Amino acid sequence: MPRPAHNAAPPSASALPARRAPVPAAVLDLLCCPVCHGALTQPAEATIQCTACQRRYPLRDGIPVLIASASLA
Ligand SMILES: [Zn+2]
Repeated sequence: MPRPAHNAAPPSASALPARRAPVPAAVLDLLCCPVCHGALTQPAEATIQCTACQRRYPLRDGIPVLIASASLA
């Protein structure tokens, strides 16, 4: 039986993972530094760091911002 339309709510923000959750290692393994293609680590809650060139990238709402011009260092 189809659900009544008035019960169809959009996904709520509370259903999303916590914003400060670390990036899963499996995800970091898939990503690389946009400048030198080095491997990435997450040394802090809101930071992704390249292990090769040491550039740091911000995490915004749990999303790594891997853009050279957005690098922090
Ligand atoms: Zn790099």
